[in-house]
Amino acid sequence: MNIILLGPPGAGKGTQAELLVANRGMVQLSTGDMLRAEKNAGTDLGNRIKTVMDAGELVSDEIVSSLIDENLKRLRPDQGVIFDGYPRTAAQAGSLDELLAANGRKLDRVVELEVDEDALVERIVGRYTCAKCGAGYHDKFKQPKVAGTCDVCGSHDFKRRADDNEETVRTRMAEYRGKTAPIIPIYEARGILIRVDGMADIDHVSAAIAAALDE
Ligand code: ADP
Ligand code: ADP
Ligand code: ZN
Repeated sequence: MNIILLGPPGAGKGTQAELLVANRGMVQLSTGDMLRAEKNAGTDLGNRIKTVMDAGELVSDEIVSSLIDENLKRLRPDQGVIFDGYPRTAAQAGSLDELLAANGRKLDRVVELEVDEDALVERIVGRYTCAKCGAGYHDKFKQPKVAGTCDVCGSHDFKRRADDNEETVRTRMAEYRGKTAPIIPIYEARGILIRVDGMADIDHVSAAIAAALDE
């Protein structure tokens, strides 16, 4: 099964992808993670990407689609994919259709996480991840079971994203509204769109997604 998780910044895409990977053995392809890896590598491309990401704007369609292409090719055919944070524009949606077809795959479901914009700033400014394994946490909504220790790998080292500040969030939301939300009707017309209430707590959102995927 190949699915897209769609929703504005802070909607819970990464959190739900992490659960789908753990519960269903699917593979998460996150363009945000790929771009951050490229940025941290400090290459020419990485430095150009950094400027765009730090401003909260979208990186070019060519760059993200080629990253998805590279990663998709490496997977075994039996591995289901969760696209997290991709596609974000109509051009990317078109590229994804082509890349899936070229790899003998098809898109089964698109899950839209519906959230109130007001909640997103709080989610984003409280977000952090394990520096070692990448598990996601929140100051208020998802604390580790033992304070200061990652539930998954036991590391004590955590990090926050440079772009997770209130200023950048406004730009990212505007990018979502202007460029990403308009692709939702494409999937609705194909009859593969599932809308899930992203304001429910994490376990309820996860149960709603599981129920919709098993239908
Ligand atoms: P996205 O990948 O869509 O940007 P994340 O999954 O990183 O969003 O979630 C943003 C922050 O909000 C994280 O710190 C996460 O722990 C927290 N979070 C995710 N889902 C929920 C939820 N349903 N309720 C409360 N907080 C949540
Ligand atoms: P969030 O989890 O908050 O939605 P992501 O980690 O998905 O954020 O993305 C972080 C940043 O990386 C975006 O603000 C954008 O600059 C860039 N980015 C990620 N995915 C894409 C994409 N598909 N197209 C263009 N830019 C992207
Ligand atoms: Zn960890």
